[in-house]
Amino acid sequence: MRFKSIPLFKIFGIQVNLDFSWFIVFFLISFTLAEYFYPHYYPGHSFLVYWLVGGISAILLFASVLLHELSHSLVAIHFGIPVREIDLFIFGGVAMIEEEAPSPKVEFLVAIAGPVCSFFLSFVFFIIAFFYPQDDLFNGIINYLMLVNFALAVFNLVPAFPLDGGRILRSVIWAKKDLLTATKISSWTGTAFAYILMLFGILSLIQGSLISAMWYGLLGLFLRNASKMSYEQTKLSLILSKFRVEQFMHTVKPVLPDETISEFMISHYPVYKTNSFPVIGDDGRIYEVNISDIQSVPQSKWNFIRVLDLSHPIEVFVSPYDTLLKALKLMNRYQVNELPVVYGNTVLGIIKRDVIEALIERYYLQEKMQEN
Ligand SMILES: [Zn+2]
Repeated sequence: MRFKSIPLFKIFGIQVNLDFSWFIVFFLISFTLAEYFYPHYYPGHSFLVYWLVGGISAILLFASVLLHELSHSLVAIHFGIPVREIDLFIFGGVAMIEEEAPSPKVEFLVAIAGPVCSFFLSFVFFIIAFFYPQDDLFNGIINYLMLVNFALAVFNLVPAFPLDGGRILRSVIWAKKDLLTATKISSWTGTAFAYILMLFGILSLIQGSLISAMWYGLLGLFLRNASKMSYEQTKLSLILSKFRVEQFMHTVKPVLPDETISEFMISHYPVYKTNSFPVIGDDGRIYEVNISDIQSVPQSKWNFIRVLDLSHPIEVFVSPYDTLLKALKLMNRYQVNELPVVYGNTVLGIIKRDVIEALIERYYLQEKMQEN
């Protein structure tokens, strides 16, 4: 259920994006509020006013969701876990927390921050409604926000991984056992809860309410996938964090500053079968050249052009002591298949994506054989 997303703004260094699927839920919520909720509890206004108030309420609901996700993010950042972006989409929001928490305690605090924020918001709106007991639409919006923030906190506290409650459950089990066992158990509860939601979907369908049937069904499917994927993700992270880049890198001799393309084609290209090569610059810094840039130069000029002239400074690299997990994450983030391995001012080699993927495949194969 992810489409292309629109970048909204940056806050605390976190990019906030709006997924196109958000518009579906924005419309549905505005519709429900404008056609049922507000006319029922606050009668006597025009169609247009109800839709306006419905739209405002839906936007404020998503602002509440954003604050919920920001709370997770700020606690994560406080503990040194990077958060790159927050996506708002059809089922609410999700903070892209880059790494697994380093300890059960941190996982617990990051997970509980969201529901605490939602409960707090609900309480704030309760206070405002208390001091503003008028029977008008402003009071209606306040009451609505009090209710949805409360519901948001309660729903997220269901111990179904990867919902916040599931993460809290995982941190509690993790404190007593290992992370993988904790993830296994909590994602099992996640899957169970997903099936319960789907069952609600079927019951709603029998009762003839198509929209809630669809809603439960989709949410159930989404949660079931999410819990499965999160478990696989954790397993993969654990495998890849056991190995270091130096164990899997290809050693590559860097291209020297005055080497021409002709020389490179004889001494480097046939020896190291990679797509990018490290190049030492005139200034002693490390540059990088792509084989496609070299191949675009006509062969007649190969004797006269230095490889360095086609190179660009390296932006992303790993150290030999980094884990394969870090290497793979960087590759995914920058959408590259190779990374130079740099130690101090020297290039030691190149780490390739296919080597990491082969390792993952081998691991899964082994696991399958153990199961049989
Ligand atoms: Zn949350």
